[in-house]
Amino acid sequence: MHDATILDFEFEAHASPVADADRAALLANPGFGKVFTDHMVVIRYTADRGWHDARIQPRGPILIDPACAVLHYAQEIFEGMKAYRTPDGGASLFRADANARRFAESAERMAMPPVPDDLFLASIRELVSVDRAWIPESEGGSLYLRPFMFASETFLGVRPAQEYLYMVIASPAGAYFKGGAPSVTLWVSEHYTRAAPGGTGAAKCGGNYAGSLVAQAEAIREECDQVVFLDAVENRYVEELGGMNVFFVFEDGSIQTPPLGGTILPGITRESLLTLARDSGVTVREERYSMADWQADAESGRLREAFACGTAAVVTPIGRVRGRGMDFAIGNGGPGILTEQLREQLVAIQRGTAPDPHGWVERLF
Ligand SMILES: *Cc1c(COP(=O)(O)O)cnc(C)c1O
Repeated sequence: MHDATILDFEFEAHASPVADADRAALLANPGFGKVFTDHMVVIRYTADRGWHDARIQPRGPILIDPACAVLHYAQEIFEGMKAYRTPDGGASLFRADANARRFAESAERMAMPPVPDDLFLASIRELVSVDRAWIPESEGGSLYLRPFMFASETFLGVRPAQEYLYMVIASPAGAYFKGGAPSVTLWVSEHYTRAAPGGTGAAKCGGNYAGSLVAQAEAIREECDQVVFLDAVENRYVEELGGMNVFFVFEDGSIQTPPLGGTILPGITRESLLTLARDSGVTVREERYSMADWQADAESGRLREAFACGTAAVVTPIGRVRGRGMDFAIGNGGPGILTEQLREQLVAIQRGTAPDPHGWVERLF
């Protein structure tokens, strides 16, 4: 299959890749985001030539000019996805087409040229194939893929840049948590919001993260694990965490999550869990939920469980919520039953140990 938008990748093998024994030692306990594979993808864009010069090359530093536009005006977007080791030793991707689509939508919002979906997908497949030895075989392990692109033009004028670099790096990740994740305590940010209507909340851009870090630091100071943001207009409705969407589970067995609408990142884990829940006959609502209702429902027992979700940690139970003058537990403070069920169902599909009725899994080799 050869599409006009797929470039041929020039391959330059690493002259001294990590030795087998050293790689095995790194893979035994990779943690998250600290260990990287031998190669990376680089594709260039210029306004006159479009996307060109696609390469798989040894991973390493890149040289940029101090006037490189991204360093000044933050035209930058990224994705986060995983390659999994299949039970028979092969490898697969989960809903990579959705990451490609979202990357293109993030690009449009940031006035950047979208990477064609099939070029994005080809770049992912090429890198995973070249660095396949880096996909952990340990239970719960995966190869985390980080596609990103930034304005690489040397120019201080304020306008969309005319040159970009698209890159993909890969980082083996261990099981975030063995078995079910422990519950986290959330801090409700009173001063800071993550995204306003008309802003960049639905784009996966580094700037959203930069703006959330001070609130996350406040959460840590308050001895909480993660910050949860409320809406920027009324400061009442729950939106999401700095990098994860949020779900609520009620005593009647229904589940609810805040609706997309420009201020919430359209998580692929979120969408997958909504689909799995509907498949199992669970009543699902995408509706706003106020902080006051969350507290009242948790205290009355109407709300039974809450969890956060995203690619990195999949599903994280929320055990407690704290804020200025506010402190309440969810259920018994531990992981809820439906939370665990949904997590297990999703992980089983991702890892190829359960059927894949929606065609979400792409076998690579
Ligand atoms: C990436 C991200 C998520 C989760 O998206 P997934 O596709 O499920 O990984 C949620 N919120 C924010 C702000 C994000 O950046």
